[in-house]
Amino acid sequence: MSGSGKGITTASIGACLKARRLKVSIQKFDMYFNVDAGTLKPGKHGEVYVTSDGVETDLDLGHYERFLDDELDRRSSVMQGALIKEIIEKERSGGFLGDDVQVIPHITDAIQDKMIAAGRDSDVHIIELGGTVGDYESLAFVEAARQLAYRVGPQNVLYVHVVYLPYLQTSGEIKTKPAQNSVRDLRSIGIIPNVLVLRSEHPSDHDKLRRKMHLFTSVSQKDILILENADTVYRVPLTLEQQGIADKIAQWCNARGKANMKVWQDVVRRATKQYAKTIKIGMIAKYLDNLDTYISLIEAVRTAAWYNRVELDLVWVDAEKLEEMTESEAVLELMKFDGILIPGGFGERGVEGMIRAATYALQNNVPYFGICLGMQVMTIAFARQNGFPHANSKEFAPRGRQLVITYLKGQKELHMTGGTMRLGSYDCKLKKGSLAHQVYDQDRVTERHRHRFEFNPAYKDKLERVGLVISGVCPQNGLAEIIEVPKHSYLIGCQFHPEFSSRPMRPQPLFSGFLKAAAKHSVQ
Ligand code: GLN
Repeated sequence: MSGSGKGITTASIGACLKARRLKVSIQKFDMYFNVDAGTLKPGKHGEVYVTSDGVETDLDLGHYERFLDDELDRRSSVMQGALIKEIIEKERSGGFLGDDVQVIPHITDAIQDKMIAAGRDSDVHIIELGGTVGDYESLAFVEAARQLAYRVGPQNVLYVHVVYLPYLQTSGEIKTKPAQNSVRDLRSIGIIPNVLVLRSEHPSDHDKLRRKMHLFTSVSQKDILILENADTVYRVPLTLEQQGIADKIAQWCNARGKANMKVWQDVVRRATKQYAKTIKIGMIAKYLDNLDTYISLIEAVRTAAWYNRVELDLVWVDAEKLEEMTESEAVLELMKFDGILIPGGFGERGVEGMIRAATYALQNNVPYFGICLGMQVMTIAFARQNGFPHANSKEFAPRGRQLVITYLKGQKELHMTGGTMRLGSYDCKLKKGSLAHQVYDQDRVTERHRHRFEFNPAYKDKLERVGLVISGVCPQNGLAEIIEVPKHSYLIGCQFHPEFSSRPMRPQPLFSGFLKAAAKHSVQ
């Protein structure tokens, strides 16, 4: 079932195997008939994660990269829509030589080909199937997973089934029936799980639960992992070790050597420690109904907080509400914060509220960190304050007079939603002596992008003359990547998404610098 912790389980298995020095790759199959995640609603489906090679993927890839501390590529994310598209294109070009094209064997073979291709360079390849056992959409994938054991040899495939255990409030009981049925459904499709992961939101009697599930599923008790809610998701690899499941999977992989889990013990220690000082960060955003929408961003801010040894109080402010407030109401709202964070976003809704927050930060020397849209909004706020009262972005004012943010490629592409963005990793050269150079402590970095609009080069000199510093430039295309306002405590915006390169064991420098500045601001 989606949301039950498959992604974290998959990523954690990867982390445990990597801790035994195996080379691990991970791949997610999504059942949706979309071609990629780019057009999915963030409020409903959660964050769109972008790989370094520029694919818009499911947020689970973010978990994989954070737990593996590795970069994945386009092979690691397959949506059913993309697969079907390839098959239809092959059929149109005569690739099936007149054969009738069917789920079995054509789609199931194509799925297995992708599984094998993605795992080619690693010792262990972990495949996560999205969706639910028994779903119409997922049948071809489960069948492909079954067939894979015959294609590569049954000794080379291990099946892990994640099931959710509902809790009945009225009787105070954890129910195993849906889990039993799910295992039975899986067996009826021909897959016998080697490992069962029981996901429960409530503490339980582990021995009793294991005995019961063993009785109904025949999975041996030592091969059952019980995952209860954890204080931090980064504890899950340690839980896999404690319950012996990591060893079981590792033995099956012929891993020699003991696991070195020090990195995870360290992350968990930092993540769960109580720090004396609390920093209040206001995140001014639009999609507030789903925590998953900004999952990588939230992980990046949290990580930066641990490493700065502060408790984080991240407060979400509805940008549209901020827009509608009177001036004094808005000031009262924004005064509460030690730092203001504006994440990425699309569309006009709430943008004036964000510009208001950026203006406030600028005028009151409050640490500000703008990401993608947050950088564009900061450019607009700065320009409006410094001689360009009509400053705007082409996204919100297509015929605006002072478009400091604009669209630079073929205008006709604009009406399309899929596949028209600047995506993936680009280099960024940092200006010596700038804040960006100082926080990164490097001359050149690489970060990931996902946007259509850019800082308008026609305004570069004009805005620099009034005090804006372009401290990061992409050497490949000369575009502005980072802007900052010197003399301000920390007012910085980046056109890329630094949250995608943050890791629990290594905070991203721009986030870390922001939290440090906010901590300093809080004592003033
Ligand atoms: N809407 C802006 C653009 O397309 C910003 C995108 C973003 O924040 N990811 O350029």
